[in-house]
Amino acid sequence: MKYPEVKNYIGGKLTPAKTGKSWDRISPNDGSLLTKVTLSSKDDLADAVKAAGKAFAAWSAKTTKDRVQVLFRYRSLLEKYLDDHAQIVHEEAGKTVEEGRQEVNKSIELLEFACSMPQVSCGPSLEVTAGVECRTEYIPLGVVASITPFNFPHMVPHWTFPNAIALGNTIIMKPSRFTPVCSLRIAELLSEAGLPEGVFNVVNGGKEIVEGISEHPGIQAVSFVGSTPVAKLVYAKALAGFKRALTLGSANNHLILLPDAHVEMAASNIVASFTGTAGQRCMSACVVVAVGDCNPIIQRIVELSKQVRPGYEMGAIITPEAKESITGFINRAEKDGAKILLDGRKAIVAGKEKGTYLGPTIIDYATRDMEIAREENFGPVLTIVRTKTLDEALDVANSSPYGNGGSIFTQSGKSAQVFTQKIEAGMVGVNVGVPVPREPFGFGGWKDSKFGVGDITGESSIAFWTKPKKITTKWNPESKLNWMS
Ligand code: NAD
Repeated sequence: MKYPEVKNYIGGKLTPAKTGKSWDRISPNDGSLLTKVTLSSKDDLADAVKAAGKAFAAWSAKTTKDRVQVLFRYRSLLEKYLDDHAQIVHEEAGKTVEEGRQEVNKSIELLEFACSMPQVSCGPSLEVTAGVECRTEYIPLGVVASITPFNFPHMVPHWTFPNAIALGNTIIMKPSRFTPVCSLRIAELLSEAGLPEGVFNVVNGGKEIVEGISEHPGIQAVSFVGSTPVAKLVYAKALAGFKRALTLGSANNHLILLPDAHVEMAASNIVASFTGTAGQRCMSACVVVAVGDCNPIIQRIVELSKQVRPGYEMGAIITPEAKESITGFINRAEKDGAKILLDGRKAIVAGKEKGTYLGPTIIDYATRDMEIAREENFGPVLTIVRTKTLDEALDVANSSPYGNGGSIFTQSGKSAQVFTQKIEAGMVGVNVGVPVPREPFGFGGWKDSKFGVGDITGESSIAFWTKPKKITTKWNPESKLNWMS
């Protein structure tokens, strides 16, 4: 076993679940036993809520400036241990080591935003009548929670906890059972940086813990990132308990390709987008809607994709079940009459035959109503749908129930403008394969890709993690009476 059994982290202590049960986590890279993960019950969750509740009074009483000093120290430690953390991302999520490095670097960028919280969360103040001042303060909520998916085990936790704790909350993290090691390493490093016990807690487990978090009366706000069915469940349960929720769901992103696009720029960005993290990211290119004759660009996409070797430039699929599910999508697309231009189903990595690899797969001449064009498969699969006009292409993209990302590849400013105005998605790009907004812009989609108000990162997260207090003061006895102050 590569890593010791992953326990919970409650009140600053590593604690096994009271159930005494655990799951095996098998390496996606080579099929060996990577670690065991403690399987918690609602009793363990109750302990974590208690520990976080106990830590809240002292932590929230500090100034924001004092709180972010811990995050500055944590950021330096993360830089020091960047290679170690990148290696963990590689081992447990199956990404390439380089992708692990990129992910940890993105965590550092997110931390930098949290470190600026004293400046960016400073509320407005105004003299509303002579001698009378109104100001807003952002008050932390209390104990909050963050439920995260497998595909960015380092970055997605950094979407939530740095901002939440910088603003004075204490937090419970619930990582995916497939990628539990990152959250524990983060906990250890936060402790080394001087974070008080109980401010950051980790509870490992499955459905019972996710439902428990959504329902627990001691938790004030829940953020979730994962698939749409679970995002809907968490959102509904949290709201039924009158708590705040922001839940991010699945995606099926459309990239519209026009014949006037710069061939090399379009092809290289599209290939990087659908093969990066082996297609297991919610901002991957899923469907290319090719308008008119885009054959030279599609040919180049195929050529470049052939150079992306599984096990080298591209990582593994998270589990054998996920690999089987993606393969099923490709099989059914073939049966439905689409043309497989590049087939990654038989990929084998020499020396890692027990790893769960797939090669890049490109499926052309899919129709808009085929399953492969409509549903998220979450693999390194690019589906091409052909249309005659940009309007028709937009109609294909906008008929998706999801609205996470979308992009256009063109050299025409007019087409780009029509696209950005009409596409129904929360994160939109022009000649960009992965249109993820960087800090201080917020991350969040539309439609069935997100439930709740605002974005999960950036300035919008300040409103989610706090409640505004409006304070009106008058210290001047001579100031005139006003019927409101
Ligand atoms: P998932 O929904 O299976 O798991 C997410 C979390 O929910 C995990 O912590 C898991 O333990 C828990 N969970 C799983 N099944 C559950 C159930 N039935 N009841 C209660 N809890 C449950 O998602 P995943 O497979 O880890 O991640 C991939 C999915 O996440 C994809 O659909 C992807 O598009 C989406 N995703 C979305 C974003 C975004 O920003 N919109 C970002 C990353 C991933």
